[in-house]
Amino acid sequence: MAEHFQEDSVAAVGVRIDAEHPHGMIFDPHQPQLRVTDLGAIRGDGVFETMYCLGGEIRKLDAHLRRLARSAGICELPLPPAESWRAAVDLGIEEFSTRGTLPEHLTIKLVVTRGVEGEPAADDPAFAGTAWVLLTPAPEALLASRGEPIAVTLLDRGHDSTAAERAPWLLLGAKTLSYAVNMAALRHAKQHGFDDVIFRTSDGQVLEGPTSTVLLVHRGAEGSPPRLSTPERESGILPGTTQGAIFAAAERAGWELGYGPLTPEELHAADHVFLASSVRLVSPVSRIDDVEVPVDHDLTAELTALLAEDLPVGRPLDD
Ligand code: PLP
Repeated sequence: MAEHFQEDSVAAVGVRIDAEHPHGMIFDPHQPQLRVTDLGAIRGDGVFETMYCLGGEIRKLDAHLRRLARSAGICELPLPPAESWRAAVDLGIEEFSTRGTLPEHLTIKLVVTRGVEGEPAADDPAFAGTAWVLLTPAPEALLASRGEPIAVTLLDRGHDSTAAERAPWLLLGAKTLSYAVNMAALRHAKQHGFDDVIFRTSDGQVLEGPTSTVLLVHRGAEGSPPRLSTPERESGILPGTTQGAIFAAAERAGWELGYGPLTPEELHAADHVFLASSVRLVSPVSRIDDVEVPVDHDLTAELTALLAEDLPVGRPLDD
């Protein structure tokens, strides 16, 4: 049964998952919860997901759970089972509803860390680490920025396109808690007058944004469908659930689909470029460094509508 907090005292809801509460237990995220020796806090050793919940309906839940399991697998990190995450998320939403304040737009984070070294939280490896769900109203500024054109800069990610295969310990393609590099890239971009970043490898392959997937659109000849493409996952990027859901709906609508490798030249040759992610949805790129990129608001709306179909995500998560 959900524990209740004083009305208005918290804007967020936390749900802890542990061996005693495999279906979750509500906690107050405004109070300290984590031990200072937790490896998630001191080494960024853990994985996470960020999901979007609209009007109480979670978008792409299955795809996020599959990607969480995939990231944990890459990191050799045991994970509570999918039923625990589902139950914990439901409990969090129920808590908001019980309070009578279910926000229309929620950001839901699923986090699991390796816990405290040498002190597993439970004998069962699935519950040995620290796991929680955090439900927060999506920030107004982020909602307002949806669909707005953005200027991006291409930045070197510091590895070549063979690194994912050659050096698996880099954990490329896992959504780990170690996002300091991604955040530093965003700060660098902002200091230089850009809104966002597209990473490239040192040997010139387009990768992804620090928190988004790159989508390219080529207009077909009059009467033929557009072509939608994205960098290939093998280059060491995170398989995007937003990209996957848009591709599934676009395929059904008869669009042509393509997967990289993509060079910066191909990026510039596209008719339109977008960054896509779960909560911000689809942002049209209007400039890449000093090169203008055409923005088509109808196309942005079309991609957003394809995403809203919320079709199951196949490739790239299934490969
Ligand atoms: N790539 C990176 C590095 C990300 O952090 C994210 C999301 O935060 C994405 C891509 C987009 O993933 P999704 O569409 O599943 O939100």
